[in-house]
Amino acid sequence: MRIVVKIGTSTLAHPGGRLNIRHTEALVKVWSDIKNAGHELIIVSSGATGLGVGKLQISRPKDMVTKQAAAAVGQCELMYTYDKLFVEYSHTVAQLLVTWEDFDHPHRLNNLQNTLERLIQLGAVPVINENDPISTEEYSLGDNDRLGALIAKYTHADLLVLLSDIDGLYTADPHTHPEATLIHRVESVTPEIEQLGGGSNSGLGTGGMSAKLTAAKIATGAGVDMVIANGANANVLYDIVDGKDVGTRFLGRKQK
Ligand code: GLU
Repeated sequence: MRIVVKIGTSTLAHPGGRLNIRHTEALVKVWSDIKNAGHELIIVSSGATGLGVGKLQISRPKDMVTKQAAAAVGQCELMYTYDKLFVEYSHTVAQLLVTWEDFDHPHRLNNLQNTLERLIQLGAVPVINENDPISTEEYSLGDNDRLGALIAKYTHADLLVLLSDIDGLYTADPHTHPEATLIHRVESVTPEIEQLGGGSNSGLGTGGMSAKLTAAKIATGAGVDMVIANGANANVLYDIVDGKDVGTRFLGRKQK
């Protein structure tokens, strides 16, 4: 199975931006094992800005240029960490930084697709992030949920997994409605489902539920199943790959 896993800042970093070693180590261990089991894996990783903030020991930046500078610092930390941890399990990582415009230019998109294919053939683990330091505000993808969905679409993945700090999509915002229940399966992203994405997001990440539902529309529209699950438990990916009922699964629409 070809699996795209998107991992959010809130799982990789503590609230102040320091690396969450426990989560990150556990995730890389499971991802390596999934790959050892014969699956193809592409990681879409956030965390550049957050880890940059932690490394520079600044408060969460509000202006674009400081965010971009923090991302430039944090991207190194991110790849250093992935490289170190994947090497423990004899896997090789590759970094790809993309912008929104890359998906708009057939030539660049084609290069991206070809490079990803070749990396997978070579057995490497592509780790993709937005090229935040050169993304302009207006065209920025902003959140990596959408980036994950675009990568899943253009690599013809079988499954997109968004690992976040929430267990999945609830019938209401569980922060304010404790009686809300988890929805295990979504056949189609209807306007009613979209309304459930109204909640805000917290911390250093930018995603939130509405971004995840936008991602679900892109992924399922391309025939890719998408699952939202909690990344705090790295082992959840084994169950998702086995098709078990964890998190929320959005069913990919059958392609004609
Ligand atoms: N590209 C951003 C980063 O790495 C993504 C932020 C996010 O989705 O949380 O910081």
